[in-house]
Amino acid sequence: MTTVDPAAGKAVYEADRAHVFHSWSAQGLIAPLPVAGAEGSYFWDYEGNRYLDFASQLVNTNIGHQHPKVVAAIKEQADKLCMIQPAFANDARSEAARLIAGLAPGDLNRVFFTNGGAEANENAIRMARLHTGRQKVLATYRSYHGATANAIALTGDPRRWPNETGVSGIVHFWGPYAYRSPFHATTEAEECERALAHLENTIVFEGPATVAAIVLETVVGTAGILVPPPGYLAGVRALCDKYGIIFIADEVMAGFGRTGAWFAVDNWGVTPDLITFAKGVNSGYVPLGGVVISDAIFETFRERPFPGGLTYSGHPLACAAAVATINAMRDEKIVENAKWLGESVIGPELRAMAERHPSVGEVRGLGVFWAVELVKNKGTREPLTAYNAAGADAKPMNDFAAACKARGLWPFVNMNRTHVVPPCTTTEAEAKEGLAILDEALTVADAFCV
Ligand code: PLP
Repeated sequence: MTTVDPAAGKAVYEADRAHVFHSWSAQGLIAPLPVAGAEGSYFWDYEGNRYLDFASQLVNTNIGHQHPKVVAAIKEQADKLCMIQPAFANDARSEAARLIAGLAPGDLNRVFFTNGGAEANENAIRMARLHTGRQKVLATYRSYHGATANAIALTGDPRRWPNETGVSGIVHFWGPYAYRSPFHATTEAEECERALAHLENTIVFEGPATVAAIVLETVVGTAGILVPPPGYLAGVRALCDKYGIIFIADEVMAGFGRTGAWFAVDNWGVTPDLITFAKGVNSGYVPLGGVVISDAIFETFRERPFPGGLTYSGHPLACAAAVATINAMRDEKIVENAKWLGESVIGPELRAMAERHPSVGEVRGLGVFWAVELVKNKGTREPLTAYNAAGADAKPMNDFAAACKARGLWPFVNMNRTHVVPPCTTTEAEAKEGLAILDEALTVADAFCV
């Protein structure tokens, strides 16, 4: 289905430009596409153009657009009860918490609900600091944790720079990234060993008795889809145990099927103390995030009040959407589909493209969570675009993105990478359609190689 109503699209656009203040943008330099509708793996504008959503919006529509069971659950809940404040118990909230705790590993049995990922990280840090009585939090340079005060301070990527909030006690360290090893390692095993030694040194030099938590994205998302080498997460767990530090796994992007597992930590059999989630929990049909909490941390707050809360914590509409999402993902084997697509379609086809295209330096990922890293030259690995690129530096990636869009594919592009992050519900035919477009668009990037 598509919509053709250019006059309506123009009115939407003009009102947007007159009154909407957009995220992360120079307001005068953007031209937001008016979107008329969406279904499954596609969305469309008012001109009749349809796009295959290879970005899952902001890597959140894991169940695809307008899943009928989730839409029906929201309508049903809206008829029953739209709002009840967090101090009450509510059937949608209780059931969402029961399902999420049931999916989480180990003894992570309680859920604190938020409206999104940044607030989840804010509250996870608060819990870790109060539980340990320590102040410092360690986070990786290549990361994104959200745009509120602590979450942006934790973030390693350049979005932090203009946003330095002066939040005290946050220390950055390097995580593993074999393709551009910060440790000059030549193998994955060496990268893992050196990354863990570096992390332990950081803990020791910061003073273990001052470190409350280590926060990391189980699989780094926006900052490059960095899959941890075997043994890394178990090594982080062991360091946390050794020094009494809380391990917070940020699964806001990696959770709820994206990696072909319910939680990304399941891929390595590791149990953190706190898991933060949002996005895929209900695909963002109604904003929802949260923290899944271990029994030990829960005990800290059994007799002592937890000093944090949100008016919309555990909002009934959002929780009803989460219940329907999780049940549909389970019944329709959507997580299994994501795993299969990664192993049998996306991974093999991207690896074949890496052989063919001079601009593809590396492909990496799992499930429906892949990065294609573009370079000017495979030998030097010089990125095809620089950080915060503008002008000529931005042209190769801009031209690549335009080539995708002109062919009906909406790509996720960040710095010198395109991320292949379609919904977990993507069919084999849709994945192949999108990958064929990507393949063609990469020839545009190839032209910039030296
Ligand atoms: N953590 C990670 C890993 C994310 O990818 C994001 C958003 O992209 C966030 C946290 C912040 O989530 P939100 O935008 O819902 O606050």
